[in-house]
Amino acid sequence: MSLNILEISYLIASLTFVVGLKMLSHPDTARKGNLIAAAGMLIAILATLVLYQSYDANKLFNYGLIFFGLLVGSIIGTIMAQKVKMTAMPQMVSFFNGMGGACAALIAIIEFQNHQHVTVTSAFDGALLVMLLGLVIGSVSFAGSMIAYGKLEGKIKDKVLPFNQAVNMILLFGMIALILIQFFGEINPMLFYVLLGVALIYGILFVMPIGGADMPVVISLLNSFTGIAAALGGFLYSNKAMLTGGILVGSAGTILTILMCKAMNRSLTNVLLGAFGAAGAAGGKSASGDQTVREISINDTAVLLSYSQKVVIVPGYGLAVAQAQHICHELEQLLEEKGVEVNYAIHPVAGRMPGHMNVLLAEADVPYERLQEMEEINPKLASTDVVVVIGANDVVNPAAKNDPSSPIFGMPILEVDQAKNVIILKRGMSAGYAGIENELFFYPKTRMLFGDAKDSLQKLATEVKEV
Ligand code: NDP
Repeated sequence: MSLNILEISYLIASLTFVVGLKMLSHPDTARKGNLIAAAGMLIAILATLVLYQSYDANKLFNYGLIFFGLLVGSIIGTIMAQKVKMTAMPQMVSFFNGMGGACAALIAIIEFQNHQHVTVTSAFDGALLVMLLGLVIGSVSFAGSMIAYGKLEGKIKDKVLPFNQAVNMILLFGMIALILIQFFGEINPMLFYVLLGVALIYGILFVMPIGGADMPVVISLLNSFTGIAAALGGFLYSNKAMLTGGILVGSAGTILTILMCKAMNRSLTNVLLGAFGAAGAAGGKSASGDQTVREISINDTAVLLSYSQKVVIVPGYGLAVAQAQHICHELEQLLEEKGVEVNYAIHPVAGRMPGHMNVLLAEADVPYERLQEMEEINPKLASTDVVVVIGANDVVNPAAKNDPSSPIFGMPILEVDQAKNVIILKRGMSAGYAGIENELFFYPKTRMLFGDAKDSLQKLATEVKEV
């Protein structure tokens, strides 16, 4: 009986994951979707704690440790989630993703220890294969996510080690060999731990050289790794909730990786070898030379915007830093009241996490219809009167199109230089994430409005009211 209830609880949990994920695909329903999936997860955890005992009395005995773990994890998670700044969300997501990978690897380690004492009758030891794969994928995801966390936090710099690509290839084939040796040969604990070490080193070396604009692909790839590793754990325990959750995260991450690869014009093979981004890490020519930038005043910007017919706003990471999404929406409404058509141009890797700008603008209740993807908006930019770039840099950098030595060369960009006027809101001349200069700032049609984005937008909104 209790086994049936346990299975039904897992089924309910699985359903909530599917429904939750579906709801996450639209900003209006995303918050609710998250809560529904979290409630499903709670049901699965509680059902396991209460009902698993009667299903298999040998397996669940250390309640003290389990509750201690739950308590410590919940406290740390709650404090981190409450304290985290919006701009540090990407790092936190990376950190949590790494923890998921570590959990999957730990499951593999613990189950491997039990497995050594089990007599396997079949020639095909499926459980061992699942453990080996779980160990490798979970460890790569953990180590890689920790490096990604350090990079997003600005604590780790992109580093291309000598023969990085060759070393990565050797490690990759080494891991495959170690898995095959153990699967087809004798169970060997030492080789198992060597495999763990190699997977951790590979995770570090594979993310280490990823530079400039290529991090988003790696982040979504690591995400899918954690999902796959969790699904393998679910397979091991015949736990349907874990299996469904893992498969959903794994497949969603894989789809996102493919989309990101397409958006960045990269191939997945290059990602897996840790090859891209490295080539131009030190590249990119300087655009400054003796060129000068042209500034524009708040008043002139307000007049220009108020008398335009079509305005496109390009939000970037700086908008998130300044937390200027609400005042940006207010300015947009003020302009619309004056009959100006305002749209937002969303680059797939703007900000520091996939979908960053969508989340940010949804938070400020910007209507979803106003958000236009890069492919959709690019052809319309030539007929746009003013493009206002708010805290974006790499995603509008023409070097991606015309400088082969640039680390972002080949990445599709928002072609804002096609518009009649370009106004850039940023604090100074600092580079963006890729660490390169932007020649757009020196173009004759570009005007710089220096200052914190929120501050500038506030002043602009006041001025627009007066025009
Ligand atoms: P960038 O990082 O290229 O540029 C942000 C700009 O914002 C900076 O040049 C900075 O200039 C300006 N800025 C910072 N704070 C403020 C502020 N308070 N007010 C006004 N301006 C400010 O941002 P983009 O969104 O254009 O590009 C995203 C980059 O991040 C890409 O290279 C992408 O590959 C990478 N990335 C994206 C991820 C994703 O999943 N989306 C994940 C990891 C990396 P200044 O200091 O002079 O003001």
